[in-house]
Amino acid sequence: MRLSRYFLPVLKENPAEAQIVSHRYMLRAGMIKQQAAGIYSWLPLGLRVLRRIEAIVHDEQQRAGHIPLLMPTLQPADLWRESGRYDDYGAEMLRIRDRHERDMLYGPTNEEMITDIFRAHVESYKALPLTLYHIQWKFRDEIRPRFGVMRGREFLMKDGYNFDVDKPAALHAYNRHMVSYLRTYERMGLTAIPMRAASGPIGGDNTHEFLVLAATGESEVFYDDRVTALRLGERQIDYDDRAQVAAVCEEFTTLYARTDETHDEAAFAAVPQAHRKVGRGIEVGQIFYFGTKYSEPMGATVVTPEGARVPVHMGSHGIGVSRLLGAIIEASHDERGIIWPEGVTPFPVGIVNLKQGDAATDAACGAIYASLRAKGLEPLYDDRDERAGAKFATMDLIGLPWRITVGPRGLAAGTVELTARRTGEAEEMSPEAAVARVAAIYAAI
Ligand code: ATP
Ligand code: MG
Repeated sequence: MRLSRYFLPVLKENPAEAQIVSHRYMLRAGMIKQQAAGIYSWLPLGLRVLRRIEAIVHDEQQRAGHIPLLMPTLQPADLWRESGRYDDYGAEMLRIRDRHERDMLYGPTNEEMITDIFRAHVESYKALPLTLYHIQWKFRDEIRPRFGVMRGREFLMKDGYNFDVDKPAALHAYNRHMVSYLRTYERMGLTAIPMRAASGPIGGDNTHEFLVLAATGESEVFYDDRVTALRLGERQIDYDDRAQVAAVCEEFTTLYARTDETHDEAAFAAVPQAHRKVGRGIEVGQIFYFGTKYSEPMGATVVTPEGARVPVHMGSHGIGVSRLLGAIIEASHDERGIIWPEGVTPFPVGIVNLKQGDAATDAACGAIYASLRAKGLEPLYDDRDERAGAKFATMDLIGLPWRITVGPRGLAAGTVELTARRTGEAEEMSPEAAVARVAAIYAAI
């Protein structure tokens, strides 16, 4: 993408309404624009990151054997009357009436609708196990939308629902979600710690939240800091292997890690003092097992091998897709701007032309641009007629992990500069070597 033809409305001044760094940088980098309290337009740069995050979520869900579908944002109230939640949900639910006076709502979550799909089409235990998920906009009329996309009213969520014949099978689905979530967050450059949680309006006893540690997080968290060193890394997971998946969950949930809702002072006191930490965290996901809470009242049953008709065991599992942008920025930035992890960056690399209009420099930039694109990497090429300082400031603000700087002096010696956004370290090399290095970095992730 050539910056001269792109739409990147960066702001010079700090927007007064933004209280936390991720909100400030998302506005300044021209990623989002607020349209009403907690409701945002996604400008081109923000949309590119959102799509990257969605792609990772899809990839890891499908790796775990979960199947995508797409349910609508608007739902009929009658489904929610069947489960009893239409009255229970309260003021967070946006209720709408259509021209025929039918009660509708903008979905805050989809347990009822997915159960309706299941009961319409599934009869036998042979169709199980089954996990269906989608990535769809939700609306919750939050009392205090704030911090930009962190607590919006309209926000993008991945929500998945498992259907299983009995509790052990459903707990395996729960564990599968935990492991797939750990891998999802790691690919985004995040450490998200599973913490025992309280269940709230979804219902059920088994539930974990995934928290990214950050001073601006809304949850108070209590943890053994050795939990922050755990990594899934490159290990191969067979998602059908119940014992293997359960062992990974045990590894990640044995050390003490809880939110204030489930915190237990006595158990925390048993953590060695040097490892006992109290901090704050951002909830980027939550998984639940809730058994037959929806299948029973809504009649979602299967016939077992013995010929009995039983309600299916279910769970629901959510990832805050749009909130993740904020969480990643909170975890990865400096005083100059965002530092995107390679897994989610809007563009893999920026090209800065230090002397726009100089024939040799323009040609060298054009060649680097073309060869990166030929390798399937879309660079952001700053080809504007601007001072070098302004170009660097824009690149630093929008946080591309790598920058190739091209100027007449370097070119005379046959070199360009490759700079890492995170460390600021710069290395001179030939244009071909810079392209090859960037390609190798992205081939490895
Ligand atoms: P919170 O406690 O932050 O209000 P929740 O527990 O009500 O969230 P869930 O029903 O668990 O939310 O939804 C799954 C995920 O969706 C959450 O873990 C969070 O990452 C994200 N999410 C929930 N509410 C919002 C919101 N208002 N804005 C952005 N993301 C949200
Ligand atoms: Mg939650």
